Amino acid sequence: MGPCSAERREQVLETARQLREECGSIPFIYRAGAWKPRTSPHTFQGMGSKALKWLVEAKSIYGFDVATEVATPEHVHEALEAGIDYLWIGARTSANPIAVQTIVESLALSIERSRLDESGKLKGILIKNPVNNDAGLWIGNIERLEKTGIPVMAVHRGCNHQPCWAMAHAVHVAKPEIPLLIDPSHMSGDAEKIAGLIEKARELGFDGAMVEVHHKPEEALSDAKQQITPRKIREVLLEEPTSHQLISNLPTTISESTAKELSWLRAEIDELDDQLWATIAARMDVSKRIGEWKKAHGIAPLQPERYQQIREKLLTPPDPLSEGEKGLRTEFKLALWELIHEESLRQQES
Ligand code: PEP
Ligand code: MN
Repeated sequence: MGPCSAERREQVLETARQLREECGSIPFIYRAGAWKPRTSPHTFQGMGSKALKWLVEAKSIYGFDVATEVATPEHVHEALEAGIDYLWIGARTSANPIAVQTIVESLALSIERSRLDESGKLKGILIKNPVNNDAGLWIGNIERLEKTGIPVMAVHRGCNHQPCWAMAHAVHVAKPEIPLLIDPSHMSGDAEKIAGLIEKARELGFDGAMVEVHHKPEEALSDAKQQITPRKIREVLLEEPTSHQLISNLPTTISESTAKELSWLRAEIDELDDQLWATIAARMDVSKRIGEWKKAHGIAPLQPERYQQIREKLLTPPDPLSEGEKGLRTEFKLALWELIHEESLRQQES
């Protein structure tokens, strides 16, 4: 837990103080990013290496371990020199195996050196899922890191502000011994969704959470919409789990681990439903724009030729090589499409 970015010494220390006060009984690692992998070069890029000493100062006052993100061998070197306990590799770096391998090699060098001079004692390394939904790449990164002998943890932060439960499940099955954490902050981009995602992760048996916490979220220089206060995270973490009701009506002969299999599958279904609705909504949006175009050019919303053309395409047996249509009955596809098309026309006519 901790801020997205270490912005100022006072902010790092004040968030730390409030976290210690609110969450003193909950074991946590204090996080803050010094080097920020931002999409735009015109936004706050992080304070760089000077932020590390603020984290280490917070550690010396409040006594918790501290973590920061590394993306290059220089970051690894500076973080270890400063006395950071845990490092994490972010989603963008995790998408690049060459970058991960370079970090692995710098970690191996640091370990070698620390045997000689006592500096650079690292307690663990966290690896986020890549920005793209690729379980194999995430597992590959875990295996690269495992070679260093440093304890590894996996962090599921989703893709495009959505969870990717199937990817997380694949990693959990392939690497059951690796602690699996959820990052509900980057997964949703929305402070309002943190509690629900933590609840879901609890139900699935996640081992912990990496949450962005800021003493004044509305003033944060990065990811302001997804950060929550120390008081709020305390409330969320101490809340009684409720969603277990979802599986509580299963026969008592079903063990907890078997029930978890159903929870993972249901998580996947919920995620796919969300994607389905998002795709349909995006389709309606394009359809509305087509409606405006037709209106501007004096063309009727229903164009029989186009309608027949799409119907015929749907009635043609699918190409056996077309993966996307596997297992769907033509009647079902036609019925579903008719329903969507009808709604589209309604929107164009309105
Ligand atoms: C972060 O944790 O601050 C971060 C940049 O995360 P991600 O790599 O998941 O986007
Ligand atoms: Mn962030």
